[in-house]
Amino acid sequence: MDNCIFCKIINGEIPSTTIFEDNDFKVILDVSPATDGHALILPKKHYKDLNELDKSCSEKLLTIASKIGNGLMDTLGYEGYNIVQNNGEAAGQTVFHFHMHVIGRKKNGESILTWTPHNQEAEIRTEIGNKLKEALTKNN
Ligand code: 5GP
Ligand code: ZN
Repeated sequence: MDNCIFCKIINGEIPSTTIFEDNDFKVILDVSPATDGHALILPKKHYKDLNELDKSCSEKLLTIASKIGNGLMDTLGYEGYNIVQNNGEAAGQTVFHFHMHVIGRKKNGESILTWTPHNQEAEIRTEIGNKLKEALTKNN
């Protein structure tokens, strides 16, 4: 894809710190890391987001994610890691070449993912659940 910063990184036009590479993926360090070693898993093929990902790529993805997460824990002393994957501008996606963030975490470390839990009436949840169930069953 022309003008895709991650495609340019993958084909070597833009430098990156690469920590793992195979036929299908390149894993690089984020230039503005949430924590040290913050990694980005990039499929070599350009997919805009999760909805475009093909089966063979998605099948391999979590295996790579756990390999990278465990590598961060073993090497940099993390006690856990977050997988973050943004789809769409509203969800915070800024680079429209699918990628998965792997972010090492320590107990009592800086919080990186937060949301405000809201109280909700059970009936509203049931109503929303029914709507989703119906739509998801139809698309099955
Ligand atoms: P998103 O917000 O789309 O989920 O994440 C995009 C990520 O890519 C951000 O965390 C950002 O810091 C990182 N990023 C953007 N441009 C570059 C770049 O040129 N090189 C590297 N290594 N990371 C980048
Ligand atoms: Zn791309």
